[in-house]
Amino acid sequence: MSIQENYNKIKNQLPDNVELVAVSKTHPVTAIQEVYDLGQKVFGENKVQELTEKYPLLPNDIQWHLIGHLQTNKVKYIAEFIDTIQSVDSEKLLKEINKEAAKYNRTIKVLLQVKIAEEETKFGLEIEEAKILFQKFVDGEFSNVQITGLMGMATFTEDENQVRKEFKVLKDLFDDLSTTNPLQTLSMGMSDDFPIAIDCGANSIRVGSAIFGRRDYAQS
Ligand SMILES: *Cc1c(COP(=O)(O)O)cnc(C)c1O
Repeated sequence: MSIQENYNKIKNQLPDNVELVAVSKTHPVTAIQEVYDLGQKVFGENKVQELTEKYPLLPNDIQWHLIGHLQTNKVKYIAEFIDTIQSVDSEKLLKEINKEAAKYNRTIKVLLQVKIAEEETKFGLEIEEAKILFQKFVDGEFSNVQITGLMGMATFTEDENQVRKEFKVLKDLFDDLSTTNPLQTLSMGMSDDFPIAIDCGANSIRVGSAIFGRRDYAQS
């Protein structure tokens, strides 16, 4: 199927309240432009260098989301234009984003990435750490960031019950934190598991290969 067919198929499946982040990592700007021309405004990249190369070549009303692990020393390269950083996995990183955002007199939206998968390789805060960090934000410690929600990745497995269980953990945390200070965004679900994620309460999904096709890392 073409990118256009892929994109339309996914859009048609999505409930109105679910935001689609089109994950364009490893794909060329021509492919991104094609999806943009279909009406998509929100794109996700996972590497700072790749993002800063693509950013100037594409329409400036794109809302860029950084979805991959971010090193504190690279925040400065994206602080001027990034819409949302979905992958905040430490207080140190949040502090740095806050500091760099202040230089541009901006408020950068962020999601706290929470570790819900069993896999050791995945980044993310523990539940308790996320609660503490969110409370510091609520108490006014970070004036140039807005914590708008949570992000998580489930274990890469065929076992749907496992995936559901992990998504539910994040949804419960989302509801828990929202009782005192309402959060907007619950980002979970990728090409292979987004229908399950939506079923478990996600209102933002990050979809790459189901739109752009398989990634060829050898060429990137
Ligand atoms: C690559 C990536 C995605 C998209 O993955 P697909 O399986 O291609 O949809 C989503 N979230 C994160 C954090 C990613 O790195």
